Amino acid sequence: MATGMAHSPEHIAMVAVLAGGAGLMPDLDHPDASPARAFGPIGRLGAKAIGTGAGGHRKGTHNLWALIGIAVLAWFLWYSPMGRAIFTGAILCMAIWTIAPSSFLTKMWRHLISWGAGAALGYWFYAHNISHTVFLLVICWGYAAHLLADTLTRGGVRWAWPFGPRITVPLAGTTGTAREAMVAWMIIIISLAFIVVMAR
Ligand SMILES: [Zn+2]
Repeated sequence: MATGMAHSPEHIAMVAVLAGGAGLMPDLDHPDASPARAFGPIGRLGAKAIGTGAGGHRKGTHNLWALIGIAVLAWFLWYSPMGRAIFTGAILCMAIWTIAPSSFLTKMWRHLISWGAGAALGYWFYAHNISHTVFLLVICWGYAAHLLADTLTRGGVRWAWPFGPRITVPLAGTTGTAREAMVAWMIIIISLAFIVVMAR
């Protein structure tokens, strides 16, 4: 297809999970949210620092400017195989951690599985050069989908932060780890469906 989006089921799966991972990035501003907890105490410390730098939860990382910033970052990272590997490895680790069922996996197993999968999938993005357009689109779509999902909660999103109103369409009231996993799954499934339809 024109955008070179998918060549094989392997590519399709990788791209979809990458979108799910990108969809977790905005909540790195909160030490108790799943993305930070994927990296243990270091993740929590990092998230605390990001949260402070971003002016609090759902502020500096939850707006249009942050989305543009991530697009610029992804644009440049694509050129460096090592940068691509570290970036994708980290966000894929967050994705696997978040969607791994916590009910029958102990914390240690969740860490082992998510770190192992993050390293393996990061290596895949090191070794495979997916198209620049797809890389950029997938990461932006994941990030934007998170902001849209948060807009549907009571807290809403201030899209033009620090300007403009907090926009909320409160259809999904709850927040918490169950919702985080649900949003990640939704992004992955929508991405899969989209890629499969586009690749036909
Ligand atoms: Zn959020």
